Amino acid sequence: MEEVNTILVVTPHPDDAESGAGASIARWTQEGKKVVLVVCTDGRNGTSDRSVRPEDLAATREKEQREAAEVLGISEVVFLRFPDQTLDDTSDFREKLVRQIRTHRPEVVVTVDPNRKYIRHRDHHWCGRVTLDAVFPYARDYLSYPEHAEEGLEPHKVREVLLWGSDEPDLVLDATDTFDIKMKALNKHASQVGDPNPDREQRARTRYGAVGKKIGTELAEQFKLVEIFR
Ligand SMILES: [Zn+2]
Repeated sequence: MEEVNTILVVTPHPDDAESGAGASIARWTQEGKKVVLVVCTDGRNGTSDRSVRPEDLAATREKEQREAAEVLGISEVVFLRFPDQTLDDTSDFREKLVRQIRTHRPEVVVTVDPNRKYIRHRDHHWCGRVTLDAVFPYARDYLSYPEHAEEGLEPHKVREVLLWGSDEPDLVLDATDTFDIKMKALNKHASQVGDPNPDREQRARTRYGAVGKKIGTELAEQFKLVEIFR
Protein backbone atom coordinates (compact mmCIF):
# COMPACT_ATOMS: atom_id res chain seq x y z
CA MET A 1 0.00 0.00 0.00
CA GLU A 2 2.99 2.31 -0.50
CA GLU A 3 2.49 5.48 -2.50
CA VAL A 4 -1.26 5.26 -2.12
CA ASN A 5 -2.96 8.58 -1.51
CA THR A 6 -6.61 7.86 -2.21
CA ILE A 7 -8.72 4.74 -1.73
CA LEU A 8 -12.28 4.43 -3.03
CA VAL A 9 -14.44 1.95 -1.11
CA VAL A 10 -17.65 0.79 -2.83
CA THR A 11 -20.20 -0.92 -0.60
CA PRO A 12 -23.50 -2.53 -1.64
CA HIS A 13 -25.30 -1.65 1.61
CA PRO A 14 -24.56 0.53 4.61
CA ASP A 15 -22.54 -1.69 7.04
CA ASP A 16 -20.90 -4.07 4.49
CA ALA A 17 -17.69 -2.02 4.22
CA GLU A 18 -17.24 -1.91 8.01
CA SER A 19 -17.86 -5.61 8.22
CA GLY A 20 -15.57 -6.50 5.29
CA ALA A 21 -12.78 -3.94 5.60
CA GLY A 22 -13.41 -1.70 8.64
CA ALA A 23 -10.11 -2.34 10.40
CA SER A 24 -8.11 -1.81 7.21
CA ILE A 25 -10.00 1.40 6.40
CA ALA A 26 -9.29 2.73 9.91
CA ARG A 27 -5.62 1.93 9.47
CA TRP A 28 -5.42 3.62 6.08
CA THR A 29 -7.01 6.82 7.39
CA GLN A 30 -4.65 6.75 10.40
CA GLU A 31 -1.78 6.59 7.91
CA GLY A 32 -3.11 9.77 6.28
CA LYS A 33 -4.66 8.21 3.22
CA LYS A 34 -7.88 9.74 1.91
CA VAL A 35 -10.74 7.23 1.91
CA VAL A 36 -13.98 7.94 0.05
CA LEU A 37 -16.95 5.63 0.60
CA VAL A 38 -19.58 5.04 -2.10
CA VAL A 39 -22.79 3.47 -0.76
CA CYS A 40 -24.75 1.91 -3.62
CA THR A 41 -28.15 1.05 -2.10
CA ASP A 42 -30.25 2.62 0.62
CA GLY A 43 -30.68 -0.60 2.63
CA ARG A 44 -34.42 -0.02 2.99
CA ASN A 45 -35.25 -3.75 3.03
CA GLY A 46 -32.96 -4.53 5.97
CA THR A 47 -35.56 -5.29 8.63
CA SER A 48 -38.08 -7.93 9.66
CA ASP A 49 -40.02 -5.35 11.71
CA ARG A 50 -43.24 -4.72 9.76
CA SER A 51 -43.93 -1.49 11.63
CA VAL A 52 -40.84 0.17 10.10
CA ARG A 53 -41.50 2.11 6.89
CA PRO A 54 -38.83 1.35 4.23
CA GLU A 55 -38.17 5.03 3.52
CA ASP A 56 -37.68 5.70 7.24
CA LEU A 57 -35.24 2.80 7.48
CA ALA A 58 -33.34 4.19 4.48
CA ALA A 59 -32.99 7.53 6.28
CA THR A 60 -31.89 5.80 9.50
CA ARG A 61 -29.30 3.76 7.66
CA GLU A 62 -27.88 6.85 5.94
CA LYS A 63 -27.43 8.48 9.35
CA GLU A 64 -25.85 5.32 10.77
CA GLN A 65 -23.51 5.15 7.76
CA ARG A 66 -22.36 8.75 8.22
CA GLU A 67 -21.61 8.08 11.90
CA ALA A 68 -19.76 4.84 11.15
CA ALA A 69 -17.73 6.56 8.41
CA GLU A 70 -16.73 9.27 10.86
CA VAL A 71 -15.50 6.64 13.33
CA LEU A 72 -13.30 5.16 10.57
CA GLY A 73 -11.93 8.55 9.54
CA ILE A 74 -13.52 8.44 6.08
CA SER A 75 -13.43 11.90 4.54
CA GLU A 76 -16.41 11.70 2.19
CA VAL A 77 -19.47 9.47 1.84
CA VAL A 78 -21.35 9.36 -1.48
CA PHE A 79 -24.86 7.86 -1.43
CA LEU A 80 -26.04 6.54 -4.82
CA ARG A 81 -29.43 5.68 -3.23
CA PHE A 82 -30.48 2.79 -5.46
CA PRO A 83 -33.37 1.02 -3.70
CA ASP A 84 -32.23 -2.02 -1.71
CA GLN A 85 -32.14 -5.30 -3.69
CA THR A 86 -32.35 -3.62 -7.10
CA LEU A 87 -28.67 -3.40 -8.14
CA ASP A 88 -28.12 -4.74 -11.62
CA ASP A 89 -25.65 -4.62 -14.48
CA THR A 90 -26.93 -1.36 -15.95
CA SER A 91 -25.19 1.43 -17.81
CA ASP A 92 -26.66 3.89 -15.31
CA PHE A 93 -25.07 2.15 -12.31
CA ARG A 94 -21.77 1.69 -14.17
CA GLU A 95 -21.68 5.35 -15.19
CA LYS A 96 -22.17 6.45 -11.57
CA LEU A 97 -19.22 4.31 -10.45
CA VAL A 98 -17.00 5.45 -13.36
CA ARG A 99 -17.87 9.02 -12.40
CA GLN A 100 -16.70 8.44 -8.81
CA ILE A 101 -13.46 6.85 -10.01
CA ARG A 102 -12.76 9.71 -12.43
CA THR A 103 -13.67 12.28 -9.77
CA HIS A 104 -11.59 10.93 -6.87
CA ARG A 105 -8.85 9.23 -8.94
CA PRO A 106 -7.97 6.49 -6.42
CA GLU A 107 -4.90 4.29 -6.75
CA VAL A 108 -6.85 1.52 -4.99
CA VAL A 109 -10.52 0.51 -5.09
CA VAL A 110 -12.00 -1.76 -2.40
CA THR A 111 -15.29 -3.63 -2.80
CA VAL A 112 -17.02 -6.96 -2.26
CA ASP A 113 -15.98 -10.09 -4.19
CA PRO A 114 -18.74 -10.75 -6.75
CA ASN A 115 -17.77 -14.38 -7.28
CA ARG A 116 -19.20 -16.20 -4.26
CA LYS A 117 -20.68 -19.54 -5.27
CA TYR A 118 -24.34 -20.54 -4.94
CA ILE A 119 -25.74 -18.23 -2.25
CA ARG A 120 -24.88 -14.60 -2.75
CA HIS A 121 -26.83 -11.40 -2.31
CA ARG A 122 -27.55 -10.00 -5.78
CA ASP A 123 -26.66 -6.50 -4.59
CA HIS A 124 -23.27 -7.79 -3.46
CA HIS A 125 -22.74 -9.62 -6.73
CA TRP A 126 -23.58 -6.66 -8.96
CA CYS A 127 -21.81 -4.15 -6.70
CA GLY A 128 -18.56 -6.11 -6.99
CA ARG A 129 -18.96 -7.01 -10.66
CA VAL A 130 -19.98 -3.56 -11.90
CA THR A 131 -17.26 -1.90 -9.80
CA LEU A 132 -14.65 -4.15 -11.44
CA ASP A 133 -16.12 -3.33 -14.86
CA ALA A 134 -16.08 0.39 -14.02
CA VAL A 135 -12.40 0.14 -13.04
CA PHE A 136 -11.51 -1.77 -16.20
CA PRO A 137 -12.05 -0.86 -18.93
CA TYR A 138 -14.64 1.89 -18.55
CA ALA A 139 -12.86 4.43 -16.28
CA ARG A 140 -9.68 4.00 -18.36
CA ASP A 141 -11.19 4.62 -21.79
CA TYR A 142 -11.91 8.10 -23.03
CA LEU A 143 -14.72 6.86 -25.27
CA SER A 144 -16.58 5.27 -22.36
CA TYR A 145 -19.00 7.91 -21.12
CA PRO A 146 -17.33 10.63 -23.26
CA GLU A 147 -19.71 13.19 -21.77
CA HIS A 148 -17.58 13.08 -18.60
CA ALA A 149 -14.77 14.90 -20.43
CA GLU A 150 -17.08 17.83 -21.05
CA GLU A 151 -17.40 18.14 -17.27
CA GLY A 152 -13.63 17.97 -16.81
CA LEU A 153 -13.60 14.32 -15.69
CA GLU A 154 -10.63 12.63 -17.36
CA PRO A 155 -10.01 8.86 -17.77
CA HIS A 156 -8.25 7.23 -14.82
CA LYS A 157 -6.28 4.00 -14.28
CA VAL A 158 -6.87 2.30 -10.93
CA ARG A 159 -3.78 0.32 -9.88
CA GLU A 160 -5.39 -2.44 -7.85
CA VAL A 161 -8.69 -3.67 -6.44
CA LEU A 162 -9.09 -5.39 -3.07
CA LEU A 163 -12.14 -7.63 -2.67
CA TRP A 164 -13.52 -8.54 0.74
CA GLY A 165 -15.73 -11.59 1.36
CA SER A 166 -13.70 -13.67 -1.11
CA ASP A 167 -13.64 -17.45 -1.37
CA GLU A 168 -10.04 -17.08 -2.60
CA PRO A 169 -8.33 -14.52 -0.34
CA ASP A 170 -4.63 -13.94 -1.03
CA LEU A 171 -3.91 -10.70 0.83
CA VAL A 172 -3.97 -10.61 4.64
CA LEU A 173 -3.69 -7.26 6.42
CA ASP A 174 -2.92 -6.78 10.11
CA ALA A 175 -6.05 -5.58 11.93
CA THR A 176 -4.77 -5.82 15.50
CA ASP A 177 -4.48 -2.11 16.29
CA THR A 178 -7.68 -0.98 14.56
CA PHE A 179 -10.03 -3.87 15.32
CA ASP A 180 -11.72 -1.94 18.14
CA ILE A 181 -12.41 0.95 15.76
CA LYS A 182 -13.95 -1.50 13.27
CA MET A 183 -16.27 -2.84 15.98
CA LYS A 184 -17.17 0.67 17.12
CA ALA A 185 -18.05 1.59 13.51
CA LEU A 186 -20.08 -1.60 13.06
CA ASN A 187 -22.01 -0.84 16.24
CA LYS A 188 -23.11 2.48 14.72
CA HIS A 189 -25.33 0.38 12.42
CA ALA A 190 -27.75 -0.26 15.30
CA SER A 191 -30.71 -0.93 12.96
CA GLN A 192 -28.77 -3.97 11.72
CA VAL A 193 -26.67 -5.18 14.65
CA GLY A 194 -28.75 -4.11 17.66
CA ASP A 195 -27.02 -3.06 20.86
CA PRO A 196 -23.29 -3.64 21.37
CA ASN A 197 -22.83 -7.26 22.33
CA PRO A 198 -19.68 -8.64 24.03
CA ASP A 199 -20.41 -12.20 22.84
CA ARG A 200 -20.64 -11.07 19.22
CA GLU A 201 -17.41 -9.14 19.60
CA GLN A 202 -15.70 -12.19 21.07
CA ARG A 203 -16.88 -14.36 18.17
CA ALA A 204 -15.52 -11.77 15.74
CA ARG A 205 -12.19 -11.75 17.59
CA THR A 206 -12.00 -15.52 17.22
CA ARG A 207 -12.80 -15.30 13.51
CA TYR A 208 -10.34 -12.51 12.75
CA GLY A 209 -7.81 -14.17 15.05
CA ALA A 210 -7.85 -17.26 12.83
CA VAL A 211 -7.06 -15.01 9.84
CA GLY A 212 -4.29 -13.29 11.82
CA LYS A 213 -2.54 -16.64 12.30
CA LYS A 214 -1.79 -16.64 8.55
CA ILE A 215 0.59 -13.69 8.97
CA GLY A 216 1.49 -14.05 12.62
CA THR A 217 -0.61 -11.20 13.97
CA GLU A 218 -3.29 -11.25 16.66
CA LEU A 219 -6.07 -10.16 14.28
CA ALA A 220 -6.34 -9.62 10.52
CA GLU A 221 -8.70 -8.96 7.61
CA GLN A 222 -8.28 -10.72 4.27
CA PHE A 223 -8.92 -9.82 0.66
CA LYS A 224 -8.56 -11.03 -2.90
CA LEU A 225 -6.03 -8.76 -4.61
CA VAL A 226 -6.61 -7.89 -8.27
CA GLU A 227 -3.70 -6.04 -9.85
CA ILE A 228 -4.58 -4.04 -12.93
CA PHE A 229 -2.06 -1.33 -13.79
CA ARG A 230 1.35 -1.35 -12.08
ZN1 LIG B 1 -25.00 -6.17 2.19
